[in-house]
Amino acid sequence: MRTRYGASKAEYEAWLQSNGHPRYRAEQVWDALYHQRRPLETATNLPAALRDGISREFPLALTTIAERHGDRGTTRKFLFGTRDSAQVETVLMVSPNRATVCVSSQAGCAMGCTFCATGQAGFERQLDAGEIIEQILVAGHDVDEPITNVVFMGMGEPLANYDATWAAVERIHTDLGISARRITVSTVGVVPGIRRLARESIPVTLAVSLHAADDRLRNTMIPLNRRYPLTELIDAAHEYARARGRRVTFEYACIDGVNDQPEHAERLAELLRPLGPLGAHVNLIPLNQTHDFSGRAPAMVRIRDFAEQLTDLGLNATVRRNRGTDIDAACGQLRERIGTPTPLGPLRAGPGPESSTRMSE
Ligand code: SAH
Ligand code: SF4
Repeated sequence: MRTRYGASKAEYEAWLQSNGHPRYRAEQVWDALYHQRRPLETATNLPAALRDGISREFPLALTTIAERHGDRGTTRKFLFGTRDSAQVETVLMVSPNRATVCVSSQAGCAMGCTFCATGQAGFERQLDAGEIIEQILVAGHDVDEPITNVVFMGMGEPLANYDATWAAVERIHTDLGISARRITVSTVGVVPGIRRLARESIPVTLAVSLHAADDRLRNTMIPLNRRYPLTELIDAAHEYARARGRRVTFEYACIDGVNDQPEHAERLAELLRPLGPLGAHVNLIPLNQTHDFSGRAPAMVRIRDFAEQLTDLGLNATVRRNRGTDIDAACGQLRERIGTPTPLGPLRAGPGPESSTRMSE
């Protein structure tokens, strides 16, 4: 079924033409949706009857079930419902020069990483490209500035939903006008997907969720590591870096006493050395607490020491500021069900379809 942000410009043109509307209307509709980036209902340069017709023929794929604001309003988390009642979460982060949307590529995730709330909840279904694009546009309706960055770091493993992810990337690039380096695809290590990505026409930024530098430890955290162990994963990342002439980001969630010791830094440096300091960037993230995983983030001072050790060993390393922890929107805390107990209590449900509950904190 065609949806508002799943439909192509040609589909709008064909529908408008067959309903007797002048040609220029297609440009106006497209402009309202993708350039002015506003809800159709507020595009008052379009006749009301036309807006009604589009609403009927090109319905939204997602319903906003709840919306929460955190970090003094600079982080917003959306809980969206699909037409078949799956639920996905999207996060908008705004800072002075950028507005980033963190999108979900699947409802749930089948990868089962032990430390991740999405992995703990399991897989529901694949999202299509229109559902991915709609998350960005609807989240963008909340800010005046255009969305500048998109990261595939919400629910799901984007490379396990390759075709929809790539179709969405192409549209983010062309229809939303976001440059390749501002589109980040994050993967837990689907090696064939990384190799395929290296041959695509748009050189997106690749992030690899590493979290451990030896197979024994990584196997306990990330089941997929048994299928694609570290040597294969690093080789594919290296291929990506070479093909693009760009560095790959390695995400590393620090877990107290588990992967944050000096020997772990040494192993990490050894593992990434083949990529050289220009080919790899390590992003250290304090682990976010999730319901079914007992690990804890180390003290911040330890994470900084770890980063310093990596730098001394010749790696490029930074510590990521955690955003969204106050609304359970930080990495790994995206949960799919309203009512899942979290430290802050459940999200509040909105009163009905196409409505939203805003909770400013
Ligand atoms: N499936 C993809 C993208 C979604 S997960 C992937 O795994 O890369 C987005 C990021 O959140 C990944 O880097 C993931 O490892 C990280 N993450 C998951 N659970 C986390 C947690 N509890 N604390 C910190 N980061 C976490
Ligand atoms: Fe899936 Fe990524 Fe979570 Fe692993 S970390 S379960 S791949 S969303």
